[in-house]
Order: sequence, then C-alpha cells, then structure tokens
Amino acid sequence: IADADLAERLRSAIRTIPDYPKPGIMFRDITTLLSNGPAFRDAVNAMADRFRGERIDCVAGIEARGFVLGAAVAHAMGVGFVPIRKSGKLPHKTISREYALEYGTDRLEVHIDALPDGARVLVIDDLIATGGTALAGVELVEELGGDVVAAAFVIDLPDLGGAARLAERGVHVEILLS
Ligand code: AMP
Repeated sequence: IADADLAERLRSAIRTIPDYPKPGIMFRDITTLLSNGPAFRDAVNAMADRFRGERIDCVAGIEARGFVLGAAVAHAMGVGFVPIRKSGKLPHKTISREYALEYGTDRLEVHIDALPDGARVLVIDDLIATGGTALAGVELVEELGGDVVAAAFVIDLPDLGGAARLAERGVHVEILLS
C-alpha cells in the first residue's frame, strides 16, 4: 500500500492518551496498533520493505516497544534480533550508555558480544521524540563495531527534533508516520 494510505491506516490504529505519564505529554499508545492484526502486519512489512535490497545483518530493538516491532521486523527480514535493554537486565557482560530524560537520566545496555564485527544493523524503536534514546542505542551498536544502516520508527514527533538530531549525526532515519 502507498505510503500516505499506510500512514493514515497506522494513524487511525494508534491512540493518543493526553497527560500520560505526566501533564502536558501526549502519549502515543501503540498497544492498539499491536492488537490490530492487519495494521501490525502492515507496519512491520512497511519497515522491512524500506530496506529491501540492502544488506542488513541484524535488527537491534530498544526496550520495550522496540522489542515487539524489532523482533517482528527481524523475522520478516530473516535476520537475527539483538535486545538493547534498560540497565541491569542483561545477564552477560555489557557496555552501556547514559542518556538524558526530561528529568534525570536513564541507561541502556547491550551484551558485549551481541554483534559480529562490522555487522550491518538496523536500530528500531516505536517512536522518536528528542532522539536521546535512539542515539544511545546507535552509539552502543557503533561501540560494538556495528555499522548502523538506519534507525527506523513507526512514529516521529518532529517538533522534538530527534530525527533531525540523528540525521545530523549521520544516521539514516526511516519513519512510517509523523
Ligand atoms: P526520546 O528519547 O525523547 O526520543 O524518547 C523516545 C522514547 O520514549 C521511545 O522509547 C518512546 O517509546 C518513548 N516516548 C517518548 N515520548 C513519547 C510519547 N509522546 N508517546 C509514547 N512514547 C514516547
């Protein structure tokens, strides 16, 4: 289906919850997209299609909604999946990156041996806002010797500048809906 039709279809499958988790935030709730079989399938196939003909060795998904989408996209592409997790969840040796939240900081981690050297990696999360989370994920992949082919998101909140921030950093960004 055409990009504009897809965007409309995804938009109507995603719900916005005002003032969650705090006043002033418009939370894009993708649980309604995930529970809608055709919409979920279209989102996953559209992401995989954007990279048809490109060599991708694995998908790295960012906890937690990036796991659901990323694992499905990896499956559609026939490649492996690498979890980028919040701190303290991975059992083996890890490297980590701190990133800024609206108030305070958080930390993402990945297993030190998660990628073969030179792996061509697609980084996936559900949504990009300020880009802090995705940038931390990209930097972890790069620190492991991976080559970030792109970072892909279902939703971009362009006013928050994250996609532009990644692009400035030389990362190719793919968005299904903004
Ligand atoms: P950021 O690091 O600012 O780009 O924030 C992106 C991360 O926070 C992603 O993992 C999103 O799932 C989550 N997030 C940020 N803002 C929203 C929002 N308005 N609705 C849903 N998720 C959000």
